[in-house]
Amino acid sequence: MPIALLAVSFILLSPAVAGGDDKPAQPQWFKGNTHTHTYWSDGNAAPEHVIDWYVNNDYDFLVLSDHNILSQGEKWYPIGRDDWRPLRPEHVEDLERRFGPDWVQTRTTDDGTKEMRLKTLPELRAKFERAGEFIMIQGEEITDQFDRDPIHVNAINLQELIEPQGGDSVRETIQRNIDAVIEQSRRFDRPMLAHLNHPNFGHALTPADVAAIKGERFFEVYNGHHSVRNHGDDDTPSMDQMWDIALTLRLTEYDLGLLYGFATDDAHNHHGQGRTSQPGRGWVWVKADKLTPNAIVSALRAGDFYASTGVTLKDFGSSDRTLWLEIQPQDGVTYTTEFIGTRWRDGAISAVGEVLATSSELRPQYEMTGDELYVRARVTSSREHPNPFAEGDMETAWVQPVLGPARGNITAQEPGH
Ligand SMILES: [Zn+2]
Ligand SMILES: [Zn+2]
Repeated sequence: MPIALLAVSFILLSPAVAGGDDKPAQPQWFKGNTHTHTYWSDGNAAPEHVIDWYVNNDYDFLVLSDHNILSQGEKWYPIGRDDWRPLRPEHVEDLERRFGPDWVQTRTTDDGTKEMRLKTLPELRAKFERAGEFIMIQGEEITDQFDRDPIHVNAINLQELIEPQGGDSVRETIQRNIDAVIEQSRRFDRPMLAHLNHPNFGHALTPADVAAIKGERFFEVYNGHHSVRNHGDDDTPSMDQMWDIALTLRLTEYDLGLLYGFATDDAHNHHGQGRTSQPGRGWVWVKADKLTPNAIVSALRAGDFYASTGVTLKDFGSSDRTLWLEIQPQDGVTYTTEFIGTRWRDGAISAVGEVLATSSELRPQYEMTGDELYVRARVTSSREHPNPFAEGDMETAWVQPVLGPARGNITAQEPGH
């Protein structure tokens, strides 16, 4: 065969080596946090200080999600501020030492106030992004309220700022903010994502409020801020219970499909002091073809991720009637995997969020019996979280739910519900 023809057939037969951006890549796992604050709103550190922590702690992507603002335009922050998010002269010196004297820009205003200019996302990207190793994804915590109930929605991979949309009820306020993200995603033809934050913060949201979100399907099953009541209290279900109630409502009465869980830091305290909300408490591992904002968000949208506060999985997956996962073991640690779901029996829901099976193996697997509406898995480590949001915070992984065989029965019986 002539050399030229050989080369052609080689390319035709092997798209993987044809080169360029189109080559299909092996999916890889990428670790990221989608919820962190800086001086751009009420975080207590410069964005470069914050990003540097995530880079040095082996994260692959980070979303700065400041309240109702993007890291865009000119913003000056007063030096010598003396509140809970101060910028002191020693902080400025520290930034100069770490990032070079030319990096930090300061000025003195007419009234004698010294200020430092906050770095914008393009500047931060140029400083920190490395192809295949670390990227920033633009984001915002849309920070709204109804009455006195805080309603916070993280919008990820945004192109433009979204102002809080308001509404005449808790649910309408949630939905109008989510709809604004969906509208922007369509307008820019770019994958974006909205996750509903910390439902128990201020006891703001009920499980039914979380269940009712339309056109989107993400919430925070774990938020690292100390005042968000991930474990619930006397009047309020835990985030795990809320997830099961919401899933059950969505798959029966509401006919809205699955709901996926994020773990996030919601970090505000970046200087070591204060236990309020520090980086490194909760994150997601995403299985994506490559490390770009669009690829990461598309993989999240597809449910190709799990939430973690310390348990790492080698992989997880599901087939027709099986949900399995494989734990990456760590020395001296044991793991309990609970497969959790709601059964549909004799035309009605049995217990909501039952533990269907428990395993202490490193490759646990659940075979569906036929009456499950959905099944999800939670892996709890025997090790306490080294930097807990509250007492009793154990290292955990949450695998996203999959639909069970009984879901088809309901749809067939009660279309349109
Ligand atoms: Zn919030
Ligand atoms: Zn926040």
